[in-house]
Amino acid sequence: MQNKELEQAVSKRRTFAIISHPDAGKTTITEQLLLFGGVIRSAGTVKGKKSGQFAKSDWMAIEQQRGISVTSSVMQFDYQGKRINILDTPGHEDFSEDTYRTLMAVDSAVMVIDAAKGIEPQTKKLFQVCRMRGIPIFTFMNKMDRDAREPLDLIAELEELLNIEAYPMNWPIGMGRDLRGLYDIYNQRVALYHPDADGRQYLPLDKETGEIIGDHPLKKESIYQQALENTQLLLEAGNQFDTAKIAKGEQTPVFFGSALTNFGVKTFLENYLEYAPAPAAHKTQDDDLIEPVASEFSGFVFKIQANMNPNHRDRIAFIRVCSGEFERGMDVTLERTQRKLRLSNSTEFMANTRESVESAVAGDIVGLYDTGNFQIGDTIYTGKRHIKFEKLPQFTPELFVKVDAKNVMKQKSFHKGMNQLVQEGAIQLYRTYLTNDYVLGAVGQLQFEVFQFRMKNEYNSDVIMEPMGEKIARWIDPAQLDEKMSSSRNLLVRDQNDAPLFLFENEFAERWFKQKYPDIKLTEKLSTN
Ligand code: GDP
Repeated sequence: MQNKELEQAVSKRRTFAIISHPDAGKTTITEQLLLFGGVIRSAGTVKGKKSGQFAKSDWMAIEQQRGISVTSSVMQFDYQGKRINILDTPGHEDFSEDTYRTLMAVDSAVMVIDAAKGIEPQTKKLFQVCRMRGIPIFTFMNKMDRDAREPLDLIAELEELLNIEAYPMNWPIGMGRDLRGLYDIYNQRVALYHPDADGRQYLPLDKETGEIIGDHPLKKESIYQQALENTQLLLEAGNQFDTAKIAKGEQTPVFFGSALTNFGVKTFLENYLEYAPAPAAHKTQDDDLIEPVASEFSGFVFKIQANMNPNHRDRIAFIRVCSGEFERGMDVTLERTQRKLRLSNSTEFMANTRESVESAVAGDIVGLYDTGNFQIGDTIYTGKRHIKFEKLPQFTPELFVKVDAKNVMKQKSFHKGMNQLVQEGAIQLYRTYLTNDYVLGAVGQLQFEVFQFRMKNEYNSDVIMEPMGEKIARWIDPAQLDEKMSSSRNLLVRDQNDAPLFLFENEFAERWFKQKYPDIKLTEKLSTN
């Protein structure tokens, strides 16, 4: 690719993830977006993964059971001259560190909120990761075709709970059965929920008064008047639309709509494309910036998915391309080992088929068949310049299990498997202080199941896992540690770097500890390996 071509290709890319709490409507909205992109022809296709429609024999068994579709991990489509990559972030029990790490590979995020429920726990957790990265966040208040909370309340909640400025791009006229349309401040029009008697869908607004131009029955309705008043109030007293703040993730443009009835989604997509950033430069550990249009290829591994084909031991390493052009069969350097690798087997994930990728540029995601070369966080590149991208954060685990080999005679394979999986970054390992037991920590249950599955499949090691439930992990300065501080309400363990930490039973136990030892500093880690 010539430089000019590369520049053009990169500037077309928009790579994002949808963050939401389960049931807020992520699948439904994704489907609508794929419909606009012409990837699928009818709604219900993506959801079909749960009914096994896409079940292919080569999926990892555990994924089949849970209906997690690997092929929908990355969805790509073109719309209005842009190439859009949507990275899936599984919710619910599928929640894992992968979910967080996926947010390391996107340039912006779309937050889908159920307008009847407001901000729910998972949304908040995922939001905080986006906040840490300082990427733009666009909000879609979904399910306005049902009775929802007052729009003003929803806006206030965003600002208070997430500490982000909100800027409504449009405002609902009514809700539930009375939903009439959207007062579209940004596009200076009213979008009608159903076309009116004359078949019109959009009504232009008078620039001066903000009123619908001419006569329309809607103008006589009190919900219209109310929406008009609210928007005027917001325009006068609310936040100013600020693209610089949006770019830094300090302000979120808010769109109301209904994914199920496909209302407000298209407007959302088009406005999103206008303000969402193209791939930007990526920082290295030496504080250099690698420009996306640099001629040499570079990228990093943000996720490793194991054993999609039970007949082979392969896994797929997901690479975010950061610069240059990825070409099938190219030779790259793996930074960690300084070894050369030939990338001959690559796949790109589409909505419903797994297709082989020929080339990809910054912003795109490629999947590489991996026979154990890669670890999460690895950098690969072409050319002479050494590139080492910033470390991926390690997220504080919240769920813990005790783990051991079922068969004491098979300690060797147990240790080998565990060491490798821990190294790969798939799971966190701790040892108890007193008895040296193995404790695994993760952010979601799925990680344990994948661990157990892989231990059996790849290392022929049956493991017993004893759930310990949720714990609050807090690190302590080794110099301040006295083993007597450990009690029945906290478990003292050491992490992979031998750093001591307590696993507190609950917040109460943590508070009690802090009161008893006011001079001890406890830290939560959102650290790098
Ligand atoms: P996900 O778990 O976030 O992927 O949520 P889904 O997209 O699967 O939606 C959860 C449920 O909410 C499904 O029954 C959807 O049909 C429903 N749903 C999604 N969007 C809307 C909407 O705009 N209005 C209404 N009434 N229901 C919706």
